[in-house]
Amino acid sequence: MKLIGAHVSAEKGVSSAPVNAAAIGANAFALFTRNPSRWTSPAIKEAEAQAFKDNCLRLGFTPDAILPHDSYLINLGAPDPEKLEKSREAFLDEMKRCEQLGLTMLNFHPGSHLKAITTDDCLDRIADSINLTLDRTQGVKAVIENTAGQGTNLGFSFSQLARIIDRVTDKTRIGVCIDTCHAFAAGYDLATPEGYEATWREFDDTVGLAYLSAMHINDSKRGLGSRVDRHESLGLGAIGIDFFSRLMADQRFDGIPLILETPDTSLWSEEIARLKAFAGQSE
Ligand SMILES: [Zn+2]
Ligand SMILES: [Zn+2]
Repeated sequence: MKLIGAHVSAEKGVSSAPVNAAAIGANAFALFTRNPSRWTSPAIKEAEAQAFKDNCLRLGFTPDAILPHDSYLINLGAPDPEKLEKSREAFLDEMKRCEQLGLTMLNFHPGSHLKAITTDDCLDRIADSINLTLDRTQGVKAVIENTAGQGTNLGFSFSQLARIIDRVTDKTRIGVCIDTCHAFAAGYDLATPEGYEATWREFDDTVGLAYLSAMHINDSKRGLGSRVDRHESLGLGAIGIDFFSRLMADQRFDGIPLILETPDTSLWSEEIARLKAFAGQSE
């Protein structure tokens, strides 16, 4: 069974996210539990957290179908000690919010070296940040997202993801979210049948499919290896619809949240219906 949804709005409070997801026919969803472009956010009130849990239960969303995404400001590999500390504090708060909401995963972007430290130093810093956070929380898995490799963002190659995971102490609480647009922009040719097989083989050999905890399902505005992060609606980009059809028929990706972050939100219900049809699911 494929768990298919989108990164829905939680602007009216986290409890509105499952309602928004159900409205577009999703059986999975992603959300921000705090303002993604601010360093601090008011705590989630206990009544709001309870309303979130009630709505999820009522609408049939279990924690394995929910993928909260952290703030864009956080850089867990920040070269500057002050920025690193600020990022680690904010990341801990993100994790605590997940705990409060009864969620089991937190999706985050690994970090950027900002040309101030080496790639390996930055990757090690990211792993250390994860270890520090896991030590102070429980029950929530840190789910690293692969990037397009734009600017100095790390985590665009499977070997970089593997290096981070290798240094994380608690292997039961680390996972990976593969964004299809980012992978394609980073040079993994998902568009052709041969490239599809080769990409997943390399992922399994380098990281291990067991770590795959979620996916972001996006087409790409830019071409293979462009290193530019620009999402496109399904079938309208450089990856093309055949890839999404192939992915949905692939049982290796059952049971994990598959989340649309495509730019035209008015197409989401249609995109979800299409993906479900590719997967041979009526609901
Ligand atoms: Zn993404
Ligand atoms: Zn992106």
